[in-house]
Amino acid sequence: MTTQNDSPRAARPEIDMVPAVVLTGTFIAALLLVPTYGLLVGYSAAAWTWFAIFLIASGLSITAGYHRLWSHRAYEAHWSVRLFFMLFGAMAIQNSILVWCAGHRPHHRFVDDEETDPYSARKGFWYSHIGWMLRRHPAAIPDFKYVKDLERDPIVKFQHDHYVPIVLAMNIALPALVGWLSGDLLGTILLAGLLRLVVNHHFTFFINSLAHMWGTQPYTDENTARDNPVLALVTYGEGYHNFHHLFAHDYRNGIRWWHWDPTKWVIRALSWCGLTSRLRITPAVDIERARLAMQFKRAEARLAAVAERSHRADHHAVAQLRAKVEHEYEAFMATLAEWSAAREAWVATTRQKMAHQIDRVDADIKALGHEITRRLRAQRRRLASLEFA
Ligand SMILES: [Zn+2]
Ligand SMILES: [Zn+2]
Repeated sequence: MTTQNDSPRAARPEIDMVPAVVLTGTFIAALLLVPTYGLLVGYSAAAWTWFAIFLIASGLSITAGYHRLWSHRAYEAHWSVRLFFMLFGAMAIQNSILVWCAGHRPHHRFVDDEETDPYSARKGFWYSHIGWMLRRHPAAIPDFKYVKDLERDPIVKFQHDHYVPIVLAMNIALPALVGWLSGDLLGTILLAGLLRLVVNHHFTFFINSLAHMWGTQPYTDENTARDNPVLALVTYGEGYHNFHHLFAHDYRNGIRWWHWDPTKWVIRALSWCGLTSRLRITPAVDIERARLAMQFKRAEARLAAVAERSHRADHHAVAQLRAKVEHEYEAFMATLAEWSAAREAWVATTRQKMAHQIDRVDADIKALGHEITRRLRAQRRRLASLEFA
């Protein structure tokens, strides 16, 4: 008998029966039953409405609950909100909060590592989308040492200990109940139960597969994560994955007000009623610094390419371009130095407990933060306007 470790290339890990049966079974059942029943009998408006309600409720419970609240502790939530996320997160059948987070935290810590990232995109689309769950891959076996803090949350613990009955109640009993009440029992079970589950599964899985392959890298190219507004549309804002991998503790993934990130809007709206609190955001200066550093990296690469292509006559133009980039880089470094000196001075002043002056110092450092951010943005635009023809 071969084991996984004897010959990792030849021997594939054994199939993990429960997820394999649930994931392939529901997918095939939805593909066959949903259109057949639709053609033969048809669906009521109520069944479609429950489909939409459950799709959004379970989707947001994964993104706002499992992901941003529990995996990343990007904010705090009232027990009623956690209870909702726990129940509708179980409806999504993506395992318990504890198991989900025990996979997601190493995904961030070891991103792209084929041995330790549970769904490393370097192992291909199929593996990172669904393959990692179908077999007992060593990298994907949850390690609970990463979620010790979550075990203290009684709602998390309760869900983990009673996972199967909660899943059955949310996926069969609840759709059956609302279907029976609205007079379309079978139609509601098929749409709001089965189809909703499969759609939610694959939209979520796209974050691990497509969001690590398709899109832009405005903040970092040190990992495969991409920003992709199209994916954000179907994932409640999780498509801004390049930003998320660099600033994982930010409660937002799409940082501009117009970025499609309903998860962020829900968390923010709940904070207005006191149901969420301590929403964490990345300082604007840090975001601009990351974007500009990436831009310099690209400018350097393009300069090198242009220099290699250029004929003798163009050398002067290339040298001029290089001088411009170098000049911008010096300005960038000077701005960062100014900012870190100001921050250090602010920390020192605050430590001296000059209580009567702290408000004033706070206002000063805030104003400087805005000014530095504005300067870095202006520099980013200048750099973008350079012609690397
Ligand atoms: Zn990722
Ligand atoms: Zn994450």
